[in-house]
Amino acid sequence: AIPVICIDGPTASGKGTLAAEVARQLGYHLLDSGALYRATALAAQDAGVSLDDEPALARLAAALPLAFRDHRIFLAGRDITDPLRLESTGGMASRVSQYPAVRSALHALQLSFRRLPGLVADGRDMGTVVFPDAPLKVYLTASVAQRAQRRHKQLISKGISASIEDLLADLQVRDARDMNRSTAPLKPAEDALQLDNSELDIEQSVRQVLNWWQG
Ligand code: C5P
Repeated sequence: AIPVICIDGPTASGKGTLAAEVARQLGYHLLDSGALYRATALAAQDAGVSLDDEPALARLAAALPLAFRDHRIFLAGRDITDPLRLESTGGMASRVSQYPAVRSALHALQLSFRRLPGLVADGRDMGTVVFPDAPLKVYLTASVAQRAQRRHKQLISKGISASIEDLLADLQVRDARDMNRSTAPLKPAEDALQLDNSELDIEQSVRQVLNWWQG
């Protein structure tokens, strides 16, 4: 089987950065599954589809006109790399992702990222639902205070102002929604290895994952 490393965890735990670096060092493909839920939310916004309309959202998700080029993401030819990362888009994605029909519409697309020489996939249910046979599943956590701090730094570096209190509150709302939904709730796979990176820098986290991978 084509190797897959799953990195799941809550919002702003650093999954994206860790997954991208591990993929780079191994020369593997990268699946940022959150981007697919985010793109579905943007597609709904463009089409004037309500975030309450599960069947219409699922139809959009099943036929997302997405293209990946030069580290940028295009939706129907429009470069959505920046809007995709907005907090407001993350909030919409968290709502869209609650619907079972949307999740199953994105399932095949996610599987298609599993190509040689291998894949690093980050999200909420990579190890529990999408790639249950993955030989390495990492469940990444960090304290909510740390995650809010990091998200704050990230936004500031992009020239976006935000209050830590608002970010913290928003993280908690999203965590609760992701953990309490009935379909593919956020939780560690039974065979996941837990990594708390509250006190680790990115290099140390990457080293830990690569150590586990190389056994
Ligand atoms: O990880 P990211 O912040 O980009 O994800 C956006 C939202 O998409 C999350 O809040 C979560 O609700 C949802 N998501 C999901 N399953 C995944 C990845 C993301 O439900 N595998």
